[in-house]
Amino acid sequence: MKQAGPLFLFLYMLLLSQSNAILITMSDGTILQGDIIDYNEEFLSFQTVDESIFLEISWSELNPKQVEILKKEFSLEPKAPEARQVKGYIVYLKRGGIVEGVLQEKKSQVFVIKNRSGKFPIPKRNILKLEKKGLSLTEVYTPSELYVQARRKFDLKSASGHMKLALFLLRTKAYEKAKNHLEEARRISPSLSSEVETILIQITEAQEKNEKRKWLQLFHTYQRTHRYKRASEALDKIKDDLSEEEYLNHQKELLSSQEKHLPNAIAQAWLNQIQRKVSQISFDRKINLEEAQENLFQTSESEVIENLVTEFSLSVAEVKAYFDKRSLSSPKRFSYGSGTFIVGLSGKKPKSSQGVESWEKIKELAAQKITDAESEEEVSPEGWWEKANSTERRQWLMARYLEARMQVESYQVKNCPHCSSRGTRKKGRKNILCPRCQGHRFDRTVVGK
Ligand SMILES: [Zn+2]
Repeated sequence: MKQAGPLFLFLYMLLLSQSNAILITMSDGTILQGDIIDYNEEFLSFQTVDESIFLEISWSELNPKQVEILKKEFSLEPKAPEARQVKGYIVYLKRGGIVEGVLQEKKSQVFVIKNRSGKFPIPKRNILKLEKKGLSLTEVYTPSELYVQARRKFDLKSASGHMKLALFLLRTKAYEKAKNHLEEARRISPSLSSEVETILIQITEAQEKNEKRKWLQLFHTYQRTHRYKRASEALDKIKDDLSEEEYLNHQKELLSSQEKHLPNAIAQAWLNQIQRKVSQISFDRKINLEEAQENLFQTSESEVIENLVTEFSLSVAEVKAYFDKRSLSSPKRFSYGSGTFIVGLSGKKPKSSQGVESWEKIKELAAQKITDAESEEEVSPEGWWEKANSTERRQWLMARYLEARMQVESYQVKNCPHCSSRGTRKKGRKNILCPRCQGHRFDRTVVGK
């Protein structure tokens, strides 16, 4: 049996905290990433993160540690032990794990332990010690296994046999199956009718309570894992079962968690995706500067927004509004580098007063035009783009994007390395404009959030 170590737990917590999807580990070690859409005592309905694959996974197909974590999360573990106990064991493994179950098979090298998650062959050499422990039937068997066993125990030709089986099934919370046997008892012996009716009403109440608890758990799980639309849907399922005050409180809780999380989560994802697009554009030697900017500000940006609409289950307007509410902890900085001459030294006025100061200085520098030099090798913006390497292109496009779409905090300038910020060079007796900065003398960096 594979033991889930701290790494697995770490990954699980990491995913739970950072992404919309979760990771689940299968018993063979395969890891799937996606969403748990629904669950019951037998199956999980799982959708992979790209929504391409939909799986019904039985609990026994999962890694036992995973089962434990998820069942705790969903409160599927029975709270009070069932009355009937079976003789079982706690198996302590040498590497630190624990498995509980009945000893189903004792081979010369291997013990097979059975519990409700499945059968686990454990090599004897891996076992530190065995300890006896009484286990409830529901800890050892799955609901369907219990059902098969229980059917054999009762006389299903008689009404009382069906009644007894129904009551047994109720203890294991197999409500639907219990209902079938109650109906059967009533059919065989109509005199049981009122007794059956009373139990059926109790079952409906218990099911509703379970249902309410299940949706409330899901609401919290979805909220904690930032799947807000799902959380809101889960809450709406039980709207009628909650008092108005409870409902409004949950809704308020959801909204505040959403408002706290979404702006930066969206901004982070937005900027990461824009940077990836900008890298692709910068590597493409076939497109010119005009096309590159068109691609970035039209095609790529709308694709990114569409992705976020899907990822966060929000509308385009909501995604944009959350992006505008961002408050990034550290500013981004991108340099126009040797392409500064295309945009000039002074850009959009910064937001912060500190930034305005640096901007005023840079504006002054920009105003100091070079008059005593002639231009000899004038470079066009397209000519610069063609010669620039992909890093220079990427920086230039990101600086452009930052300035256009985000809040500029300040600007920084760096001496042109070609002319040491003189803006001119000597060529024979002539003074010529520096071909790199074209007389702008500095490279400009945009700093913003
Ligand atoms: Zn220069």
